[in-house]
Amino acid sequence: MTHVDEDLGVVAAHFTPALLEWFHRHGRKHLPWQRELTPYRVWVSEIMLQQTQVATVIPYYERFMARFPDVGALAAASMDEVLHLWTGLGYYARGRNLHRAAQRVVAEYGGDFPDTLEGMQSLPGIGRSTAGAILAISRSQRHPILDGNVKRVLTRYFGISGFPGEATVERKLWTFADACTPAHDVGSYTQAIMDLGATICVRSRPLCSACPVSTHCVARRNGLQSVLPTRRVRKERPQRETFAVLVIRDDGAVLLEKRPAAGLWGGLWAFPQFDDRTRASQWLSERFGDVPEAMAEIYEHGFTHFDLQIHPVVARIGGVPARISEGDVHQWYDATQPSKIGLTKPVVDLIKRLVTAEPARQHSLL
Ligand code: SF4
Repeated sequence: MTHVDEDLGVVAAHFTPALLEWFHRHGRKHLPWQRELTPYRVWVSEIMLQQTQVATVIPYYERFMARFPDVGALAAASMDEVLHLWTGLGYYARGRNLHRAAQRVVAEYGGDFPDTLEGMQSLPGIGRSTAGAILAISRSQRHPILDGNVKRVLTRYFGISGFPGEATVERKLWTFADACTPAHDVGSYTQAIMDLGATICVRSRPLCSACPVSTHCVARRNGLQSVLPTRRVRKERPQRETFAVLVIRDDGAVLLEKRPAAGLWGGLWAFPQFDDRTRASQWLSERFGDVPEAMAEIYEHGFTHFDLQIHPVVARIGGVPARISEGDVHQWYDATQPSKIGLTKPVVDLIKRLVTAEPARQHSLL
């Protein structure tokens, strides 16, 4: 053992017991997914909690579990229904991967989740940290985890600088995460460190005075809470734009088109989209003849790697035109009696803003 390993062992020896004691006294233990710690329930919660806060996840999780109480029910569902229950949570690749992984668990593992890290990681959407968390919480297997919350806690506690997404920094963090992970009570520890990052060691203004590991925390001792974890050097985010056509029938139904399975918003239902206004107008007149169209207020949507400006082109029509046949690709969507399909967030927001808003407001926007 090197000096560094020894030092790390000593510091971790303070960290882990203090964290566990705090969790047993104050940690959250009544969240919906903590009621029954099966691999299926823990897996769904871990995926939903990626990039999403607990309070937002709870109602989605409850609805999801009511409809898909086990992996077999999820595997047997249609992708449309899964994405329907995901609508509004964002990062839809998570929902698609969840569905694919459920089908693999049923087809290849007879409905039982694999019980090794490698087996778990071979499923779509499950990386090393998520696999470790599921096995630690549901099967009490000792595996370190390293999600965003854990990275924040460890970089601050041990005073580790450098952007945590960089390979060398990440490798180092895995070593620290491993040194802190106990052999016993690993399920509680795993929930405890995620909980600490989510409720006490939060991104801005961490609550150090309430923190169970503050005594030996390097960031607190040196006033480095606001500079750790080190931020990524930001490049300018690319901007893109698109023209979304909202064809609204006089009964309020709006035309939606299914996105191709691969790519942006894969498998979700959205408005027909075009790269420029001319093509959008052409498409409209080819299908609906000479209908008046109007531009509504731009809608901005941020993706991980770029920002998208959506220009809504609104056309209100009378009856159902012959040139649109409903089926796998198009459907008339009635927001007052919604069908079970997955919608993109801009679609949900724009329907609220331009279709179901009161008439006076609609006119002011057109
Ligand atoms: Fe985070 Fe403060 Fe606790 Fe250090 S003392 S781990 S900075 S909350």
